[in-house]
Amino acid sequence: MNLETKCIQAGYTPGNGESRMIPIIQSTTFKYDTGTAMAKLFDLEAPGYFYTRLQNPTNDMVAAKIAALEGGTAGMLTSSGQAATFFSIFNIAGQGDHVISSSAIYGGSYNLFHVTMRRMGIDFTFLDPDCSDEELEAAFRPNTKAVFGETIANPALIVFDIERWAKAAHAHGVPLIVDNTFATPVNCRPIEWGADIVTHSTTKYMDGHDATVGGAIVDSGKFDWMAHADKFPGLTTPDESYHGITYAEKFGLEGAFITKATAQLMRDLGSIQSPMNAYFLNLGLESLAVRMPRHCSNAQKVAEYLEKHEKVTWVNYPGLPGNRYYERAKKYMPNGSCGVISFGVRGGRDAAEAFMGNLKVAMIATHVADAHTCVLHPASTTHRQMSDEELLAAGVAPDLVRFSVGIENVDDILADLEQALAALA
Ligand SMILES: *Cc1c(COP(=O)(O)O)cnc(C)c1O
Repeated sequence: MNLETKCIQAGYTPGNGESRMIPIIQSTTFKYDTGTAMAKLFDLEAPGYFYTRLQNPTNDMVAAKIAALEGGTAGMLTSSGQAATFFSIFNIAGQGDHVISSSAIYGGSYNLFHVTMRRMGIDFTFLDPDCSDEELEAAFRPNTKAVFGETIANPALIVFDIERWAKAAHAHGVPLIVDNTFATPVNCRPIEWGADIVTHSTTKYMDGHDATVGGAIVDSGKFDWMAHADKFPGLTTPDESYHGITYAEKFGLEGAFITKATAQLMRDLGSIQSPMNAYFLNLGLESLAVRMPRHCSNAQKVAEYLEKHEKVTWVNYPGLPGNRYYERAKKYMPNGSCGVISFGVRGGRDAAEAFMGNLKVAMIATHVADAHTCVLHPASTTHRQMSDEELLAAGVAPDLVRFSVGIENVDDILADLEQALAALA
């Protein structure tokens, strides 16, 4: 199946007389005829459902669709993108371990790593994604368990050199985990470039309609845990909480990572997505391959318009030929990157705030990456307590406007920008 067909059909094939849509199995629990039958499920001796905190058929069908889109062998849904990021690392790293992360990642991921996971005893080294090979090499330690990056960083729009980072990770016997939220599998499939695990905030383009918060993890099935058995004891030695099962032996390359994350992390931490939300997510996935090209073509036109405007001081969009990441974006995302642009308004902080207030079609929201065009000026909202100097130190220009281009008619978006910029002094 081609990607467009997978968006519609992967993950679920109805039998004769069964519902055409993925059914919502809104049930916490599942009935069995005998205790013995159920015991087999508890022991992971037979596949099946017993409690929705661990697995639910609706969620699994939607996860299978996302896994198919990414070209992976197994997938799982989580309650949020944050939970997906956390699980993807905590599944293979624990107290005393170390992880290397690109510094160009979503702020929530940075906080999770730098503050919360450090408190759990996992150390992180953050590296400029464009650091030298020597710097990357030097960051690895004997206790390094994973490398993490983001295909297109939110909000810096830095394009991650997946192939280079995958090679470095593999040379040290650890997997590369890539957050593919902004590109989506429609525009980039990190597994094809060497990524081992892919994560998503499905809250963004995948859902695409501001309807549900959610996350997903996909395993490529390519990383050989047994070949690096000493580094990943959680996968390669018996799990006493599951009667001595060794995940990498019992579930193989294709299933070990997701089975462990489900059987241990979901069981103990319970960050499940509700089946109802998974159903909404599936609706978004069905149109993802149609929506992404529209986001990209609209954003391209908006970026080109802004670049020529005399009241705009700079524009950051990987689709612009002058952009630092233009060539790399072409390599990894030949059909387009995403719909998010950042730019500066002449007159700095105050002008940017006034500009944002003038917009009528673009709505002020902290959200990005969905059907509705939305805008955020961090200096007057999320980062308003900071001085201009503090903002610059945090990598956020005082005049920076983050503009997430939706799938409305682009002429309406352009006209909105035109009037909002014209009204500035
Ligand atoms: C929003 C976002 C997240 C976090 O996802 P939530 O669904 O909000 O928990 C992670 N990564 C990226 C790139 C995001 O944009």
